[in-house]
Amino acid sequence: MKALLFSMVCLVSSGLNAQLDFTKISDSSYIFTTYQTYKEARISAHGLLKITPGGVVMIDTPWDTTQFQPILDSITLKFHKKVVLVIATHWHEDRSAGLDYYKKQGIATYSTYATKNLCRENNFPEAQYTFEGDTVFTIYNTVFETFYPGAGHTSDNIVVYFPKDRILVGGCFVKSVEAQDLGNLSDANIGMWPVAAKTLIKKYPKVKIVIPGHQKIAPGKKALKHTLKLARKNYKGRKQDKKKAKH
Ligand SMILES: [Zn+2]
Repeated sequence: MKALLFSMVCLVSSGLNAQLDFTKISDSSYIFTTYQTYKEARISAHGLLKITPGGVVMIDTPWDTTQFQPILDSITLKFHKKVVLVIATHWHEDRSAGLDYYKKQGIATYSTYATKNLCRENNFPEAQYTFEGDTVFTIYNTVFETFYPGAGHTSDNIVVYFPKDRILVGGCFVKSVEAQDLGNLSDANIGMWPVAAKTLIKKYPKVKIVIPGHQKIAPGKKALKHTLKLARKNYKGRKQDKKKAKH
């Protein structure tokens, strides 16, 4: 399992710092990773490609905007298929930046209604179509569902679960095991995140692979448990700070 998870399938580079990695995690599932500099550190961002007989489903768009077309080219080359559906798991640019680009390529782009609204409010590219937070999608023989655990990283963050492979795409709601803190909190809901993290852990007890939005991917539920721990720690820290401020 570990070997499978970390078997790097190919690495495509274009431009000076641009890098696009693919990691195979099941027969028909690949994590794609692009990179950006955030607070002077080079940070990875992950999305998922699900290969179905009728085309490829892309969960989240590349963070590195120079990779919008190279990823399509790589998909054509590797799988001889086209992307037919893109879903953004929340409104921030590491998930939604490519929505306009893919819409213009004739690809169906989707997000929740809440995400579309937030994209619009913040002048970000928005999806063409919307769905409710908890929706089951069937693309040819592939079934997957979206789930809204509650507010955390943002008020609109959803996750995507593939029951057959037991793969959970956590987006930025789920932190990597190597994350020291909850990261960018500018739109976060500190009070709700621990509750929502617990809801998510309960919802998918059989999950095999959890993909966090950024950084290292660990096998099993480790990332979910780590997210809950960080969210609880952060919540307690804030409460203590408030108490101190009152005295
Ligand atoms: Zn993110």
